[in-house]
Amino acid sequence: MKLLSGKTALVTGGSRGIGEAIVKAYAAQGANVAFTYLSSEERAMAIVASLEAMGVKAKAYKSDAADFQQAEQLTEAVLADFGTIDILINNAGITKDTLMLRMNEEQWDEVIRVNLKSVFNLTKHVLKSMLKQKSGSIINMGSVVGVFGNAGQANYAASKAGIIGFSKSIAKEVGSRGIRCNVITPGFIETDMTHALTEDQRKAYEANIPLKRLGKGDDVANACIFLGSDMSTYVTGQVVECAWRLRIKLSCLKRKGTV
Ligand code: NAP
Repeated sequence: MKLLSGKTALVTGGSRGIGEAIVKAYAAQGANVAFTYLSSEERAMAIVASLEAMGVKAKAYKSDAADFQQAEQLTEAVLADFGTIDILINNAGITKDTLMLRMNEEQWDEVIRVNLKSVFNLTKHVLKSMLKQKSGSIINMGSVVGVFGNAGQANYAASKAGIIGFSKSIAKEVGSRGIRCNVITPGFIETDMTHALTEDQRKAYEANIPLKRLGKGDDVANACIFLGSDMSTYVTGQVVECAWRLRIKLSCLKRKGTV
C-alpha cells in the first residue's frame, strides 16, 4: 500500500535538490503534488511531467515563498486546483555565507526572509484550510546548523534555529485541531547548495559522519514521507535530525567565494 495515497502536498522549492527528491518520493507514494520554484521553470515543468507519469496529479507554481502576498495567492491557487492541502513542506531555502564581520545587512535580511519568513507566510495561509478540515501535517526544513551553529553562517543558523522555535510553538497551538508540525534538520546533503567540495573536503566530512557518507535528497525525502503519512499521527513538535551535523570549514567557504 502507498503511504500517501489520497493526500495532497504543497512543497516549496521543489525544482531542485532536496525539494525535487521530496516531490518525486511523494508522487511515488501516491500523493498529489503541488510545488513551487523561483527561477528553474524548464526544470520544474520536466518534473511535473515525471510526476504525472507516476499517475498522480501534479502542478508547479512560480512563487516567491518570501513574499507574503504571493504565498496567499499560491495557497488560493493550490486549493482551487487540488481542493485540499493535507501536507505543507516548507523546504525553500538559500545561503549567503560569510563571517559576521563581513556580513552586510542585505545578506542577513535576504536569508531571514527566504528561510524563515517564508515559513510564516505559507503556514499562516495554509493553516486556515487545515483548521477547517481538522487535519494536516506541516514539515519545516531546518538544518543541523540551526542546532549547533556554524562559523560563517550566522544568518543561516539564525533562520534555521528560528524555524525550530516557530514549529514547536505551532505544534502547541494547533495540536488540539489534529494538525501536526515538525522539523527535519538535515546534515550535509549533496545538492546544488553544497556542490563546491573538493575530494579532500568530502573525505574529511565523511570521516565525521557515523554512516561514513554524505546524505542524499532521498534520505531527507524518506523522513518527509514518514512525517507526512499516517505512520506519524502521534508525532508533533519534534526535530528529526537527518544524517549528521556538518562543520563547514573556512576553506570550503573561501572556495565558494563567500568569505
Ligand atoms: P537547492 O538545491 O539550492 O534548492 C533550493 C530550492 O529552493 C530550489 O528549488 C529553488 O528554486 C527554491 N527557492 C529558493 N529561493 C526560493 C524562494 N524565495 N521562493 C521559492 N523557492 C525558492 O537547496 P537544497 O540543498 O535542496 O536545500 C533545500 C532546503 O534544505 C533548504 O531549506 C536548505 O536550507 C535545507 N538544507 C539543505 C542542506 C544541504 O546540505 N543541502 C542541509 C540542511 C538543510 P529555483 O530552482 O527556482 O531557484
